[in-house]
Amino acid sequence: MSLNSAHRTFRAFGRKDIPKIPQLAQLPPDHLLAIQAVAGVLPFRVNNYVIEELIDWDNIPNDPMFQLTIPQPDMLAENELNRMIDLIRGDADPREITAEARRIQMGLNPHPAGQMELNVPLIGGEPVSGIQHKYQETVLFFPSQGQTCHTYCTYCFRWAQFVGMDDLKFAAREAEDLVAYLKVHPEVTDVLITGGDPMIMKTRVLRRYIEPLLQKGLEHIQTIRIGTKATAYWPYRFVTDRDADDLMRLFEEVIGAGKHLAVMAHFSHYRELETPIARTALERIRSTGAVVRCQAPLIKHVNDDSAVWKRMWRDQVNLGAVPYYMFVERDTGPRHYFEVPLAEALDIFNGAYRHVSGLSRTVRGPSMSATPGKVLVTGTCVIEGRTYFALKFVQARDPSWVDQVFFAEYDKQASWLSDLKPAFGQDSFFFEKDLAGLKAQRLSREEAFAN
Ligand code: SF4
Repeated sequence: MSLNSAHRTFRAFGRKDIPKIPQLAQLPPDHLLAIQAVAGVLPFRVNNYVIEELIDWDNIPNDPMFQLTIPQPDMLAENELNRMIDLIRGDADPREITAEARRIQMGLNPHPAGQMELNVPLIGGEPVSGIQHKYQETVLFFPSQGQTCHTYCTYCFRWAQFVGMDDLKFAAREAEDLVAYLKVHPEVTDVLITGGDPMIMKTRVLRRYIEPLLQKGLEHIQTIRIGTKATAYWPYRFVTDRDADDLMRLFEEVIGAGKHLAVMAHFSHYRELETPIARTALERIRSTGAVVRCQAPLIKHVNDDSAVWKRMWRDQVNLGAVPYYMFVERDTGPRHYFEVPLAEALDIFNGAYRHVSGLSRTVRGPSMSATPGKVLVTGTCVIEGRTYFALKFVQARDPSWVDQVFFAEYDKQASWLSDLKPAFGQDSFFFEKDLAGLKAQRLSREEAFAN
């Protein structure tokens, strides 16, 4: 393929552009207004590549890429949707519309899994902005310039960052605090640069965050991970963007410095892997020595079908990428619209896993990133005629919890850890007491510094 023919200028459309997107004009006016109403509450941003090459406009509204990127009326409760529509239709004061949107947003659990309370580390009693440290060996870093995305996923679990809830932003301006933190945490081996999407940044900006991690004194940092959906939403980033070649050089430098570089690519559907430019992007990334690991949540209306995952994992392996995680949709945002009960998620996972070769079985799932850790639904079992879920931690706040199998009552409707009841008549799961202790410890540390 000629790379020149793939040159494309990035163009993004926001909420106010909805009526200007020509492909959306085929929808009835009421439907378009409803999309605008939802986009007033949940983030909306879509680029020309997604519009022109990923969405199948002959199959809307059911098309998975349409569901993935364009707000859908049923994402809000009926009364909330109608209230937003009335305000927009009545040309209400923008402040009134924003206030109503904020009221709805606050009811959508904007920060799930104790991200603010438990994950942000303290130095001298002060929270370190831009860092989360939940699991012993992995630190998450949120560079401020990387806190947006080429297109927003309608199911985004970090949606609160994109709707102006500024007090909830994690972003760091410089890598200084990160380096200082890592120097006194030799147990950390992995840094995950995340967002938003760090690949929204120019290479020279990304370099400012990555280079300091290669310096002396940080030999314990073995792996740099970059979480991104640019491989799906803007693969030109790795191929024909003006600084794409510089980016490849930066990747090579990381590997030359003896680090493992993992591009944690978010692929929700095999369609995202099918365009020539996406394939070239993966090829180029891999040619630097970086490893591409793929992950996505299981989402109703987008990929709630074993056949989709089976094909996606096979395609990933064929393209030299490594299937890594199938997540359960987080307990935030328009979860009622997207959620797939755990029992169904397990069936979908198994329906795909059982029909791929061992090379695709690097994938783990369905996994919940919950407050105590990443909890895998490993299967079901029947004991004395009663069915149970078998669960285990694949990551945990307390490393001693990892790999411990535990059981919950089988519940067809349950869609999150908090919906599950411990098995065998127990009052609580084995980790709950320790988790409460960790929370109390954190609180008392904060109070001690505040006094
Ligand atoms: S790419 Fe990730 S951070 Fe960006 S909108 Fe999608 S889920 Fe959210």
